[in-house]
Amino acid sequence: MDLPHRLTSEVASITELPTEGKRFHDNRDAAEDEFRELRDELASWQRKLYAAGQHRVLILFQAMDAGGKDGTIRKVFRGVNPQGVRIHPFKQPSKVELAHDFLWRVHPVVPADGMISVFNRSHYEDVLVVRVDDLVPEAVWRRRYDQINQFEKLLVESGTTILKFYLHISPQEQRERFQDRIDDPEKHWKFSFEDLEKRKQWDSYMEAYTDALNRCNTSFAPWYVIPADQKWYRNLAVARVLVSHLRELNPAFPPAERDLSHVEIK
Ligand code: AMP
Ligand code: MG
Repeated sequence: MDLPHRLTSEVASITELPTEGKRFHDNRDAAEDEFRELRDELASWQRKLYAAGQHRVLILFQAMDAGGKDGTIRKVFRGVNPQGVRIHPFKQPSKVELAHDFLWRVHPVVPADGMISVFNRSHYEDVLVVRVDDLVPEAVWRRRYDQINQFEKLLVESGTTILKFYLHISPQEQRERFQDRIDDPEKHWKFSFEDLEKRKQWDSYMEAYTDALNRCNTSFAPWYVIPADQKWYRNLAVARVLVSHLRELNPAFPPAERDLSHVEIK
């Protein structure tokens, strides 16, 4: 399968990378058909992964506000067995969390054998919002890129597959999605005035994202930069990456404990 969005070399700025999925796919209907097939395939791999209990898969999503993290998770993981998939949203740290190192809250929720953990935001917030808003001194966040790489290396060396997605939207697309949240009463709960403040810091966020993606794009835990202005393309691109990695892991249902051919239930 063709996976065009893996970050393969350093970029001067992620703003050079495309946000338009349309540039990669010209047929929305065909994309949606392929997506539904891949979503079913993902669900079927996940059942085997859970049954086999041998692999651990960590999938994380980062994006600007309204970038589509929630929607991607809702669409892509529809159909999986919820018992084997844990979704972890990372919000502003609590007092207790802030009284520890920044990875303290992350480590307990990484996937166990047979499990998929999905991070909606992640430890990358600690070099994104924390950097942009000066929440800790620069010397502290600067050390974190290496600390993140070491942490991710530990997980990979312990049998975890890590897939990191940055859902890349344009500021114009964000404007439209914010407006939609204002216009639709059922989406009011998603609108936050704080998001408008973050929108004003767009350029600083793009710089912070550029550094995070460049510095933490390791061979063992690569970043995928997904053009996310069109939701239908975004869903397809994410599903393609996930399914291609699951095919490689190739989990299988374990054999029976003993030969079952002569077992008769009376
Ligand atoms: P949402 O994803 O819309 O529910 O918002 C969660 C909020 O938590 C966002 O504004 C994030 O920037 C914020 N957040 C997540 N992790 C951190 C962190 N480590 N430090 C500060 N803010 C964070
Ligand atoms: Mg929000």
